Amino acid sequence: MVINGKTRLLGLLGDPVEHTLSPDIHNYISEILDINSVYVPFHTQADYLADAVKGAYGLNILGLNCTVPHKNAVIECLAEIDEGAAAIGSVNTLVRIDGGYKGYNTDMMGLYRELESYNIDLTGRPVIILGAGGAAKAVIYMCMKYGASVIYLLNRTKKRAETLAEYYSGIFDNKKKIIPMSLDEYKNIPEDKYIVFQATSIGLAPDNDNVVIEDKSFYKLVDVGIDLIYNPFETRFMKLCKSAGATCYNGLKMLLYQGIIAYELWNNISVSKEVADKIYSRLLKRVRNNIVLIGFMGSGKTTIGHALSKKFGYKFIDTDSIIVEKYGNISDIFAEKGEEYFRELETKVICELNRTISGAVISTGGGLPLRSENAFILKELGKVVFLDITEDEVIRRLAGDITRPLLAGNNPQKKISEMISYRTPLYKAASDQIVSVSGRSVEEIVSDIVL
Ligand code: NAP
Repeated sequence: MVINGKTRLLGLLGDPVEHTLSPDIHNYISEILDINSVYVPFHTQADYLADAVKGAYGLNILGLNCTVPHKNAVIECLAEIDEGAAAIGSVNTLVRIDGGYKGYNTDMMGLYRELESYNIDLTGRPVIILGAGGAAKAVIYMCMKYGASVIYLLNRTKKRAETLAEYYSGIFDNKKKIIPMSLDEYKNIPEDKYIVFQATSIGLAPDNDNVVIEDKSFYKLVDVGIDLIYNPFETRFMKLCKSAGATCYNGLKMLLYQGIIAYELWNNISVSKEVADKIYSRLLKRVRNNIVLIGFMGSGKTTIGHALSKKFGYKFIDTDSIIVEKYGNISDIFAEKGEEYFRELETKVICELNRTISGAVISTGGGLPLRSENAFILKELGKVVFLDITEDEVIRRLAGDITRPLLAGNNPQKKISEMISYRTPLYKAASDQIVSVSGRSVEEIVSDIVL
């Protein structure tokens, strides 16, 4: 990207800002749409917030995001505020207008767009919201605005739930719709199938095994569960929803769409689904931090995988082992049902990993990345590392190995040679990093692979 006299500046005001994913979202949209703008995080302390907003206007900054702890305080610094943001009492997007900035809450709009992307309609649906903090306010407002039939609002501190219930009942002039409760009062919720929003900070990494309500009977009430948290990718809340047979989603699409909507507001454009999908793929990779190892049989995916899992403290997953565990011995599958059937199983396994796994080193079967749909899924799943091995080294390593169905029969060396020539360009195309393994120690190879 070329920065020149026409480049427009976008940015984020927050404290801290070091771990934000917003630059990934906005700079990537600018790159895809070829819009001449740059998005930068500005570490802004509370005492300087008003100066920062005023200075940003003076510097002709086109738009800003605003995050913790300024979402509420920034309201004082605005020239105008959107009706929804005013009702929620929280602003995360500043759009340049004459004389200052207009504040919006794209968290609420982003969550609504996430629901739309999953075809979830709130109209006439009963809802449970866990939490009564900043994020829950946007959820309550959205549920009221889009016609939920009733909202059970559960919070550790019941008083906060009561205050919010009273406030939003007033705004929407409907006293019966929001029922505040403490978390342990969930047993009083009438039997029904609810859309449940998890809007507390419990379950956020590294607190992965925690959830505000553990009792499995609660999850019988869940039709669809949406956790606003996206790290870990599958939270304990989502696991419990799933075990009870409910559909569940995390908050990564909320993050995606709050960013896209802000970008649309700044530039007065509409971002297409194709562009949104591209950005989502990139976010998936960033958020989950998985490493996916691909390569020919004998290239060391298992050995290197275990060493990497030790290095990063990640779990190790092997797609072939999952297949053996679920469907039986691989040689038998090849013999009885054929290679194509086995490839279908591989696709099934990585689709499931793609829905759930974060913080893992995933070793894949040698033929798995050869299907183009699989190669696409692997790129979403994590950083794809191709362990590149020479033909001679494979022959040396696999000498006498009778467990490989694809090498059965006469002249396995010729087969290896043909397979390597065919597969290597496909492995290269499917990878984000290529690492040579022939004649190198495990330590050397592992030190080449970074997150
Ligand atoms: P917040 O204002 O600090 O509110 C925290 C909420 O969690 C409150 O309801 C609080 O209850 C509850 N809580 C905290 N510790 C608890 C405990 N030990 N036991 C039970 N409840 C507890 O935070 P927030 O801004 O609303 O954010 C909530 C979550 O939403 C965060 O994890 C955040 O990452 C996520 N979020 C996601 C997106 C997205 O784009 N996907 C956007 C915004 C937020 P009390 O009132 O009793 O303290």
